[in-house]
Amino acid sequence: MVISQLDAIRSEIAQCTNCPLHETRLHTVPGEGSPTARLMIVGEAPGAREDETGRPFVGRSGELLTTLLSEIGISRDEIFITSVMKCRPPKNRTPRQGEIASCIPYLFRQIEAIRPAIVMLVGGVAISAVIGPWRLSEAHGRFYETEEQKFFMTYHPAAALRFPKTADIIRQDLQIIKAELELSGH
Ligand code: URA
Repeated sequence: MVISQLDAIRSEIAQCTNCPLHETRLHTVPGEGSPTARLMIVGEAPGAREDETGRPFVGRSGELLTTLLSEIGISRDEIFITSVMKCRPPKNRTPRQGEIASCIPYLFRQIEAIRPAIVMLVGGVAISAVIGPWRLSEAHGRFYETEEQKFFMTYHPAAALRFPKTADIIRQDLQIIKAELELSGH
């Protein structure tokens, strides 16, 4: 059931022409992982490697994210990983409001299909697209709950590639995730 819902979303994304990014993409990047994931990770947008391969978080920030997750005992195949945007913005520019507005229904449908225990939003674009504007220095390490879904906010691993201190902040934030998943039966 969940698999067929995710497959339907994936094929809609593959044919999507709702915003101008379809003109410059090589591949759509719908996201991947377990349909029964208890943790879902949401980034900003595909970069060059993701656009080439059609897979999320396979470039340098993806490698770092994978390492940080493995440090808390989580492997990529047990989670679901995606981004707000399913197509790469040219030269990795920040996605525009209209592009986010046309793409985000796919993310909301993925969340609804999987209903993970936690959706972890990484970086300011994902946080402001899903929750609303919130300074990262205040938002990170916090949960935000709606009636249907629990969200958690932290920095984007790309920031940690530039500032090693940010990697440590993400590490600390991931300890909170680890404890929460253990509490809720990981
Ligand atoms: N950064 C993101 O936010 N998403 C990806 O898929 C890759 C890098």
